[in-house]
Amino acid sequence: MSNTLAYLLDKKIYINLTNHCTNDCIFCLRNDKDDVVGQTLWLDDENSTAQDVIDQFEKIYAQCPSKEIIFCGYGEPMLKLEVLKEVAKYIKKNYPQIRVRVNTNGHANYIYKRNVVPELKGLVDEFSVSLNGADKKEYDMYSRPKFDEAYKETKNFIKACSNENISVVASIVEGYKGKHLDLEKCKTIANDLGAKFRVREWIVNGY
Ligand code: SF4
Repeated sequence: MSNTLAYLLDKKIYINLTNHCTNDCIFCLRNDKDDVVGQTLWLDDENSTAQDVIDQFEKIYAQCPSKEIIFCGYGEPMLKLEVLKEVAKYIKKNYPQIRVRVNTNGHANYIYKRNVVPELKGLVDEFSVSLNGADKKEYDMYSRPKFDEAYKETKNFIKACSNENISVVASIVEGYKGKHLDLEKCKTIANDLGAKFRVREWIVNGY
């Protein structure tokens, strides 16, 4: 048993900080499988420190000097905000050429009851936020959030990123088991919030 806090996929280093999430998306990989490219991503515990993450990152980077790291994994990385900040700070200080991306559900400002985005300026190059719906009804059906204001909060988070001039992509998963979203409407919402728009076609294994 061990905690996989960093792993390599498509020559990019992914950082897996937690198994917890404030969503329970119907297409979440966690519902279908225990691993990504053979790496078990279920953590034995939630007590890992930034140094634990950095140690694993360094081992992988020594073998494959990646140009990008992505906070993603089997849970919502922003739930481990302080660890994420510390790791991102380390990367930016020691490997300024590496691009740092955070894949998030956009609930952080609701969770921490403050706007955390300015704290990440200079540490995160891009946020990819799961928009997953043209309205609350669609969002709730896909994302099954654990609090009622989640759709509104997600949109507010996207706007908070663009307000800070941090690159932000609003993404949706399209075609999950034959379900379809209003792509034009989602794109308009994303662009109005100052975000780029990305459609991820649903595929069975998620990669
Ligand atoms: S937001 Fe991401 S980690 Fe959370 S349930 Fe959805 S797909 Fe899974």
